[in-house]
Amino acid sequence: MQQLLVHGLDSARIQAIQALFSQELFVRPVAKETLASALGDDVALALVGEGGGDAASMAHRASLFDAIFNQAPIGITISHGLSPGDTVIDEILDVNPTFERIVGYRKEDLTNIGWSTITHPDDLERERPFFRQLIAGEIDSYRIEKRYIRPDGSIVWTQIVVAPIDVGLRDHYNHICLIQDISERKMIEDSLKESERSRGVLLTHLPGMVYRCKNDEEWTMIYVSPGCVGLTGYSQEALIGNREVSFNEIIEPSYTQELHRSWEAAIREGRSFSGEYEIITRDGERKWVWELGQGIVGEDGRVEELEGLILSINARKRVEAQLRYHSQHDLATGLFNRHHLEELLSSALAHRPRPAMALVAVNLSGLHASAMTYGLLYSQQVLKEVAGQLQTLCRPSYTLCVIHEYQFVFHIHGYAGKGELNRLSESIAAQLTIPLAMEGISWGTGIVEISPGKEHEVQDLLRKLLVVSEQAAQRWGGGHLFFDEQMERQIHQEEVITGVLSDLASGVESGNLYLLFQPIIAVDGGRIIGFEALARLDIPSLGTISPLQFIPIAEKTKLIIPLGESIIIAALRFLDTLSKHGYDGMRISINISALQLLKQGFSSNLLRTVRAMGVNATAICLEITESTFASNYQEINKILRPLRKAGMQIAIDDFGTGYSSLARERELEVDCLKIDKFFVDKLSQVGRDISITSDIISMAHKLGHIVVAEGVEEESQLSYLQEHGCDLVQGYLFSRPLAEVQALAFLSTYKP
Ligand code: C2E
Ligand code: CA
Ligand code: CA
Repeated sequence: MQQLLVHGLDSARIQAIQALFSQELFVRPVAKETLASALGDDVALALVGEGGGDAASMAHRASLFDAIFNQAPIGITISHGLSPGDTVIDEILDVNPTFERIVGYRKEDLTNIGWSTITHPDDLERERPFFRQLIAGEIDSYRIEKRYIRPDGSIVWTQIVVAPIDVGLRDHYNHICLIQDISERKMIEDSLKESERSRGVLLTHLPGMVYRCKNDEEWTMIYVSPGCVGLTGYSQEALIGNREVSFNEIIEPSYTQELHRSWEAAIREGRSFSGEYEIITRDGERKWVWELGQGIVGEDGRVEELEGLILSINARKRVEAQLRYHSQHDLATGLFNRHHLEELLSSALAHRPRPAMALVAVNLSGLHASAMTYGLLYSQQVLKEVAGQLQTLCRPSYTLCVIHEYQFVFHIHGYAGKGELNRLSESIAAQLTIPLAMEGISWGTGIVEISPGKEHEVQDLLRKLLVVSEQAAQRWGGGHLFFDEQMERQIHQEEVITGVLSDLASGVESGNLYLLFQPIIAVDGGRIIGFEALARLDIPSLGTISPLQFIPIAEKTKLIIPLGESIIIAALRFLDTLSKHGYDGMRISINISALQLLKQGFSSNLLRTVRAMGVNATAICLEITESTFASNYQEINKILRPLRKAGMQIAIDDFGTGYSSLARERELEVDCLKIDKFFVDKLSQVGRDISITSDIISMAHKLGHIVVAEGVEEESQLSYLQEHGCDLVQGYLFSRPLAEVQALAFLSTYKP
């Protein structure tokens, strides 16, 4: 605040000046010397009272007065006027430059028109009574806010202070008026009013209420906005002062304790509170609300009141609940889904101490084949029925989920030893065996125990569960299996093998895939007619892997397609090597997986490769397992036809082990039949099966097929086969599968 330094004025005058300038200036009496030297930045003006009477000091005082008048940051007018009856005759005697600037009139004009003319008529109405009282000596001064109308018609808001002043005109009433431009403040006030108004609009349309309450146990409301009716069903009056109900009573009881705790923490830490909870409306309906509030710090620094906003979030919560249901459930069966099981497991695994838990999976892997035949609707129907049967076995500690297209899982939280799991598996079998056998669906139950002491990972457990339940399902008939350490090792190996195979398919040599060649010998004369190419995989950490192990993995991962192509090329290259060494007319037998064969363009690609490598197609025999034909032999015949036309031979591998049907063999367009080692083994044991082997040979011959016996290890087997007219043989009796160099050596040294 600026200061007005004065000297030599009596206290009555100092008070009078202070009253005039009460908001703008602080009037401070000082010593004469101070006055002279203290005219600094914060001192507006200095005024000296009637001290000395000499001319010099009179002149000095006059110049000081001029200085006040001309430089004051507030407008000053000195007027005189009369008040005969109702009409006030007023005249302006003097105005300072600030006043001229505020009202926009020059002094010359103002002295003619007077102040009441340029006052806004509405404000003049208000001012007149004050002015009359002042003239009558009833009041010492008055202060009002009023508008002046500027020459251009615009309005300026001012605050004025009017007080009597003696200027020596005894017949007139004289007064001084100090004015301040407050247009800016008025504008702010207006916009505040506007924002008040819009706040009002907002409050009425809010899907909730604004409140101010005591920071007490009841949350006693001091103010609630009209929205409280819509939100709670209670009127404003009912809530304020807990007249009918306290806010605390509206809150769903299970939330109150936690809410009080959170509020206390928010107040203690000086931050705002926000939370979601449920209230019970007047009609007894539960409603989700969201609250945002803060404590109001009183003068003593304590929080005695709270204020904030409570909004209904019922609609959002409803959608959220739906989304949560969808994300946690399988829509076809209504059971929990994989996502839910994963969440359940990870929270159960994190818990300490933890009871013994188990996962019991019912795997309907056979349903897949039926779905392909009968369609999706059928498989969904079966799934629903199975879900219904399994649900009857649930107990409070069991949670049933469906986590895979055809896999149901019981999560068992706490159980009394293996016995309980065995009994559950038996009950599952009792429920499902007959209905699933009637549908011809293979299935099984796999069990993974989660011991309390060890660390487990959710995905790891689910992978184990898949492995063990698939193995159980392969046994057909609904038996159950526990996951054990051997399966664990197998899983690990499979992971390593999968990695190496996919590396190889993309050209990275983390392992070595190569071929061995087993000689095929003519029974009649003992000549070597060719070789069968047998794949091997060397992995540094695991050694040499049998194709019995890695081919199924390559098939499962579909990597057999690229890897099969490189096997074909390696086998054809061996043929080339043979002919370069002078062994022409040799035949190479290559094993082909069903997946390779059924891949679009298999035949044309193979023919192109054969042509490109300059190989004679008649030197190639493709071995296809009998089970491949089981799916759709007509389609297989169609694929094989152009290959046979080009001169290749087709052999049915493992004949007698799969879906053997001698009747169907007639329909298969093949050249050759390989009797499985199983039947050759039988030949060394004396028994009835011997006749079967001879029957197979004679029947195949009737159909015009060449017969190959594999796995011949003993002379006795060979002589039987010789006797019954078998054409070709293969087995350790002659040679194990050989590397290329050894195969060439075998050729050069072998004597029939
Ligand atoms: P397969 O086609 O029936 O091959 C014959 C299997 O019997 C070979 O096992 C061979 O080493 C073995 N064997 C031959 N003579 C005897 C014998 O006198 N005694 C005994 N105990 N075994 C004998 P291998 O090489 O382990 O191959 C196993 C199976 O893996 C093959 O059975 C074939 O189905 C598959 N396979 C091998 N190589 C390939 C390939 O390149 N591609 C595809 N798709 N499958 C292959
Ligand atoms: Ca074979
Ligand atoms: Ca075979």
